[in-house]
Amino acid sequence: MHKEPVTRALFDQVMVPNYNPQQMVPVRGRGSRVWDQAGNEYVDFTGGIAVTALGHNHPAVVDALKTQADELWHLSNIFTNEPALRLAKKLTDITFADKVFFSNSGAEANEAAFKLARKYGHDHFGDDKYEIISFKQSFHGRTLFTVTVGGQPKYREGFEPVPAGVSHVEYNNIDSLKAAISDKTCAVVMEPILGEGGVIPAAPGFAQAVRELCDQYNALLIFDEIQTGVGRTGAFYEYMNLGVTPDILTTAKALGNGFPIGAMLTTDKVAASFVFGTHGSTYGGNPLGCAVAETVVDLINSPDVLGQVEAKSALFKSELEAINAKHHIFKEVRGKGLLLGAELIEEWHGKGQQFLAAAREEGLMILVAGPNVLRMAPSLIIPDDDVKAGMAALERAISKVLAA
Ligand SMILES: *Cc1c(COP(=O)(O)O)cnc(C)c1O
Repeated sequence: MHKEPVTRALFDQVMVPNYNPQQMVPVRGRGSRVWDQAGNEYVDFTGGIAVTALGHNHPAVVDALKTQADELWHLSNIFTNEPALRLAKKLTDITFADKVFFSNSGAEANEAAFKLARKYGHDHFGDDKYEIISFKQSFHGRTLFTVTVGGQPKYREGFEPVPAGVSHVEYNNIDSLKAAISDKTCAVVMEPILGEGGVIPAAPGFAQAVRELCDQYNALLIFDEIQTGVGRTGAFYEYMNLGVTPDILTTAKALGNGFPIGAMLTTDKVAASFVFGTHGSTYGGNPLGCAVAETVVDLINSPDVLGQVEAKSALFKSELEAINAKHHIFKEVRGKGLLLGAELIEEWHGKGQQFLAAAREEGLMILVAGPNVLRMAPSLIIPDDDVKAGMAALERAISKVLAA
């Protein structure tokens, strides 16, 4: 099949302008390296935004996709399939959950979680139990319900009217939640680390206190682990590190290592409110996505991968501190495992994008979390040499921005 040559310029002609991608087109990835159309090489600290946790084109993951591609692609949920059953079994064996619902994305996993929480509230406590409380600065996806629950007003402005019965309280401030929660609350939704919102971990004891308030008011606790899950923090899910068990957990991003899949995990008791016909998805749980995710779960849920996340994290942090000792550009380096944030000092607030573009020119792909924080969410198995090469590029980029 003939393929037309394409360039970055074509993006502005044919794509809806809701994204503004970097001025190059990546064409190939291996491990934590990526190459663009011109053959330039990049170290990848983005991990596709906490997605490619096993790096690009991991041979076992590629093999899982190719093998399943030769067997069966799609059936719809009128039939079940082997990869979906095996993946659901694995996820329930690993976690608190008894039941799984599959989606194609994080937002859809959250949509299912919020709908389930409302349905459970109605079923068990009546029509007045519908309020959902989440946290300011949180991010839960881009559907209308998930931008409403998310704590960043900029993502829902202009899309009103939004669904009613949602309120936002301060993260890491239990009094703020205490003042808002009531018998009308059906669920409290939290990210164990605010990802998009600036890489802000839950303070010690905060998740426990949220759990206790939920129990007191018969509200479900939903953990959005779409960014923190699947090994990112060194535990398979961060709730395991925190020692607090949610009633519903949502997962996506790294679950497919780049193949679209999401899932909502919950208990038998809560799952019972989604009876036959109450919710669904055409593609959710399709054999290709589930076959890939099965392999991803097997590979990541092992001491080989989980056991080295903390050491990689320490290397990232010490390299960032070394850059900071020289350039005094970061106010704080924070995060857990391989979800890391470096907040710029006050005078550079609002200018994260400038560093991102300069890093790209020096051969490094990096993320921001809001306007003030450089974010890193690389492959969990990024080689130390790639970390060092990436940090050398970051330092060059910072020197350039500071000298400009
Ligand atoms: C990325 C993300 C989402 C949305 O996932 P999509 O797959 O983009 O729909 C939801 N919650 C959190 C915490 C995320 O990081």
